[in-house]
Amino acid sequence: MAVAIEKTDEQKAICEMVRQFADEQIIPNAEHYDHEDAFPEPIVEQMKELGLFGVTIPEEYGGMGLDLTTYAMIVEELSRGWISISGVINTHFIGSYLLLKFGSEEQKDKYLPRMATGEIRAAFSLSEPELGSDVAAIKTSAKKLDDGAWEINGQKMWVTNGLRSDLVFVLVRTDPQAERPHKGMTCFIAEKEAGAAENSGPYEGLNVPPQIKKMGYKGVESTELVFDGYRCPAENVLGGEAAGLNKGFPQMMDALEVGRVNVAARGVGIAQRALELALRYSQERKAFGKPIAQHQAIQFKLADMATQVDAARLMTIRAALMKDAGERSDLEAGMAKLFASEAGRFCVEEAFRIHGGYGYSKEYEIERLYRDAPLLLIDEGTSEIQRMVIGRKLLERHKI
Ligand SMILES: Cc1cc2nc3c(=O)[nH]c(=O)nc-3n(C[C@H](O)[C@H](O)[C@H](O)COP(=O)(O)OP(=O)(O)OC[C@H]3O[C@@H](n4cnc5c(N)ncnc54)[C@H](O)[C@@H]3O)c2cc1C
Repeated sequence: MAVAIEKTDEQKAICEMVRQFADEQIIPNAEHYDHEDAFPEPIVEQMKELGLFGVTIPEEYGGMGLDLTTYAMIVEELSRGWISISGVINTHFIGSYLLLKFGSEEQKDKYLPRMATGEIRAAFSLSEPELGSDVAAIKTSAKKLDDGAWEINGQKMWVTNGLRSDLVFVLVRTDPQAERPHKGMTCFIAEKEAGAAENSGPYEGLNVPPQIKKMGYKGVESTELVFDGYRCPAENVLGGEAAGLNKGFPQMMDALEVGRVNVAARGVGIAQRALELALRYSQERKAFGKPIAQHQAIQFKLADMATQVDAARLMTIRAALMKDAGERSDLEAGMAKLFASEAGRFCVEEAFRIHGGYGYSKEYEIERLYRDAPLLLIDEGTSEIQRMVIGRKLLERHKI
C-alpha cells in the first residue's frame, strides 16, 4: 500500500510541543530519577496538563481524539527523552484502547473522562511468574460467586504501573473446562486504590508487593499483583458479562497489536536519541589528531545507525497508518516491533562504542540508554515471538 508519511500540520505542532517538553523537562531530569529509581511525579503532572493521557481518547470523553499514527509520533518523542516516561502512558493507552473497542457504554462513560485527564491511570496485566510469551497458559482464575460477583485468585508479574494505577485490565481464566484454553479467558477491569500496597474495603484481596528491582527502565514501577479472594463485580467484565465473558484472549491479542506499534515507536525514539548523542560526541572527541567522526570506521557506524532509525520510523508509521485506515496490519505491526526494537538496541550499542570509556560512566546519558534499550526486545512479545507471528501471518497471507 502507498502510505503518506508527511506529517500533517496538526502532527507537526504536537510533535514540536512534545519534543520541546522532552528537551526541557525530561532529558535534563531523567538522570536524577533514573539514578534514584524515583517516580518522576512533576514530569507526569505536566503530562496531564499537556493532555497526553488522553491522546487517543475521543473528544466527547474529554480527550484529544487523535489517531494511532499521531500517538506513535508522540511516543517516539517521549521515548527520545526517556522510555520510562512513555512507559507511564503506554499501559494507560492500551487500557483506553480496550475500553473504546470492547467496553460497554457504561464502562466508557465511567472511566474514559477521568482517564483522558490522567486523574485515573490504567495498567495492563497478562504475564505471570511462570509465563509471559505463552499467554494461553495463564493460571490466575476467577470464579462466579452466589451473589453474581467474580472472585479472582492468582499472581500476576511484571505489571508496569502496577502500584500507582487505579485500574488493571487483567486477563484471567474463567472457564477451566473450555475445549481450548484461550476460549476460557476473560478480561476484567480490576479497580484498586492507586499507591496502596495493601488494598482494603471494596478492593480487599488485591495486594502489590514491593516493586521489582530492574537493570533499567527505572522510575516507572514494575510490580507483581497478588489476587487473593479479590471480588470483582460482574459489570467489570470488559464489555459486560453478556458480551465479554470468555472473550478476553482475542480482546487482549487485539490490544497487543497496537501495543506493538507503541513499542516500535519507543524503539525509534531511543535509536534517534542514541544517534544524536553519537553525532555530537564523535565531532567533539579527538583521536589521532582529528575528531573521531573524521575516521571512516566511525562514519560507517553513524551511517548504519541513521539508516536503521529511518527504516524503523517508516515501518512504524506504516503499521500505524494501516491500522488507522482499518486495514489488516498484524504482520506489519509485528515487523515494525521486531525491527524497531532491534534498531534501538543496535543504535544504542553503536553510540556506546563511539563514546569509548566515557560511555561506561554514569556521567553520560548513553549509559542509561544502554540499560534501557534491552527492555524493548522483551516487552509486548520478544523478538523470537515476533518472528513466530510474522512467519505465521506470512504463510496465512500466501497460502498455496
Ligand atoms: C520491565 C518489564 C515490564 C513489563 N511490563 C508488562 C506489563 O505491563 N504487563 C504484562 O502483562 N507483562 C509485562 N512484561 C512482561 C513481558 O511481556 C514478558 O517478560 C515477555 O512477554 C516475555 O515473557 P517471559 O519473560 O515469561 O519469557 P518466556 O516466555 O519465558 O521466554 C523466555 C525465552 O524463551 C523464548 N521463547 C518462548 N517461547 C518460545 C517459542 N515458542 N519459540 C522460541 N522461543 C521462545 C523467548 O523469546 C525468550 O527468549 C514486562 C516485562 C518487563 C521486563
